[in-house]
Amino acid sequence: MSYVKTVPALTRAGVDINVRRLNTLSNRRAQSTVASTQADQDVTNRESYSSRKSRNASSSPKISIDFDLTQEAYKSKDNLELLRSLVVFKLCSYDLLVDKNKELMDISKFLLGKKAFEQFMKMTFYGQFVAGEDHKSIKSLIQKNRAFGVGSVLDYSVEEDLTQEDAVTKEMDSCVSATEKEGMSKDHREKQYKTHRRGGVTGDRTYFYSDEAKCDQHMETFLKCIKASGGSSVDGFSAIKMTALGRPQFLLQFSEVLVKWKRFFSFLAAQQGRDGMEALEQRLELQPLQEFMTTLGATGDFHGWFTGEKQGSGTIDRLDWNSLIDDRIKISDLLVVPNLETGQLEPLLSKFTEEEEKQMKRMLQRLDVLANHAEEHSVRLMVDAEQTYFQPAISTLTVEMQRIYNRVKPVIFNTYQCYLKEAYDIVTMDVELSRREGWFFGAKLVRGAYMYQERSRAEEIGYEDPINPDYETTNMMYHKCLDYILDEIVLNRNANVMVASHNEDTVKHTLRRMNELGLTPTENKVYFGQLLGMCDQISFPLGQAGFPVYKYVPYGPVNEVIPYLSRRAQENRGFMKGSQRERELLWKELKRRLASGQVFYRPQPEPGL
Ligand SMILES: Cc1cc2nc3c(=O)[nH]c(=O)nc-3n(C[C@H](O)[C@H](O)[C@H](O)COP(=O)(O)OP(=O)(O)OC[C@H]3O[C@@H](n4cnc5c(N)ncnc54)[C@H](O)[C@@H]3O)c2cc1C
Repeated sequence: MSYVKTVPALTRAGVDINVRRLNTLSNRRAQSTVASTQADQDVTNRESYSSRKSRNASSSPKISIDFDLTQEAYKSKDNLELLRSLVVFKLCSYDLLVDKNKELMDISKFLLGKKAFEQFMKMTFYGQFVAGEDHKSIKSLIQKNRAFGVGSVLDYSVEEDLTQEDAVTKEMDSCVSATEKEGMSKDHREKQYKTHRRGGVTGDRTYFYSDEAKCDQHMETFLKCIKASGGSSVDGFSAIKMTALGRPQFLLQFSEVLVKWKRFFSFLAAQQGRDGMEALEQRLELQPLQEFMTTLGATGDFHGWFTGEKQGSGTIDRLDWNSLIDDRIKISDLLVVPNLETGQLEPLLSKFTEEEEKQMKRMLQRLDVLANHAEEHSVRLMVDAEQTYFQPAISTLTVEMQRIYNRVKPVIFNTYQCYLKEAYDIVTMDVELSRREGWFFGAKLVRGAYMYQERSRAEEIGYEDPINPDYETTNMMYHKCLDYILDEIVLNRNANVMVASHNEDTVKHTLRRMNELGLTPTENKVYFGQLLGMCDQISFPLGQAGFPVYKYVPYGPVNEVIPYLSRRAQENRGFMKGSQRERELLWKELKRRLASGQVFYRPQPEPGL
């Protein structure tokens, strides 16, 4: 089905809407960056931060939550549900079952037949981790969780179930441009941003590109999901994956350009003796920059920097620098990258075909349609983070949507993966941009789901592992990013964060920091998120204490969410091994109920929640 017929917002938007919006906004951004004003602002902000922090901390009641109170944690579950959780978590603790889960499910389907297999899944894994087949059947679960203080982030979880070989073929096809296929372009692409048969970009992928019609179908599904979120609660969230909305070639190549320009800035900063500083502190002197750009053959006065028209301080920082990238009209023109060895600006590809140019624009349009729809239905849109070779583009496009849609309230939420070595730089830069431009920063903070795939791909293909060296470093990174955002909330009430983690220490750290900073749950600035079927002992006590807490609620037909279930088991292997504590709490509660004669326990929500 063509999206032009089905989505009026798109017709209204017109073909060039996103590109035009990007230009207008990036001009606004360039105008807003005046270094001296910024320095004054920082001093004022620091003063207001310390006074606000001590005022808040002394006047707000301290929050404390006991995550061992099983009666509270499992209030919403009957005994059969507790028993099911116990069985499922126990099964997930066996490595062999997790490793061979796909094969085992295939054998079970063959032996039991489709119907009995579906029934078996509903009584076990599907029942535990998936809410239902469609947006109607999930309503009762959403309402029940809401009655116990827990909201929902709807996540339509149908994924393509392809063999590795099919996945590689589809991926090779969709990540390579026509000119590359024909061998017409000189190859300037880096290993990390290329499709490889060995260690390819396929593992753990949710969506594979078939054609534009399939992307329209995904968009339609996300639109229904947004509508269902709006219909089922007043404070809903809906999750989307950007790789579902277009040809991944664009995300791959745009990511490469962004990363190369970022590296170019670091190279120039090092030349000017400014390496080793935090990302936001690095500034480039304009005069040597102009001289260097001229030697590269890049003439012209970028944003009026060199004539001093827009810049009073004689320096620019990374955010000013980034504005260079989105200030062009033709997307393929963006794909010009500096070559640090030859000192030349060179095209990443010789050219895109007309069709490829259109495909890229359609992806931006689909995003625009979804964001519009979310705004109209008062639903917040959560853009999931994906693999590192797509993520710079995903994150940049999400920020572009935030600049448009988060002017009055946070509608669009970006996701930051703290297992990345550069997570803190990315978070601080985006917060700073939101501060300068005055829009609402919205973030979901996760540790990151693709660690094994990222590591093995980097090793096989031969580039630096983008993931922190160990779990401890990831934990420190998570808390550093979180603390920065919490401070920003105290400083400037425009920031919002979802602490999306099953880690009890991280949740406790957040509560402690909120107490220290005087941030209260009712301000609705700090949310918590866990996946459906996991860590109820964290979600429900938080919800009952009045915190905005959400379950990621996957849904879809049984047979079509099996890849999701399989991925969940794999992704959460580390977590699942640590589910010992959850099993102990479940046992404790089950035994307590049986000992007190509550054999037929029926969940009763407390009035007022
Ligand atoms: C609501 C919600 C939404 C999510 N959305 C996304 C998303 O959009 N994108 C995404 O990528 N993930 C997403 N995730 C998954 C998330 O990134 C984690 O994989 C998962 O939550 C486990 O991390 P944790 O903090 O809950 O638990 P923990 O058990 O404390 O952390 C496990 C995580 O730590 C990291 N880690 C483990 N070992 C090491 C090591 N040796 N070196 C470095 N790091 C290590 C890995 O990221 C691993 O997943 C989401 C999770 C939730 C709860």
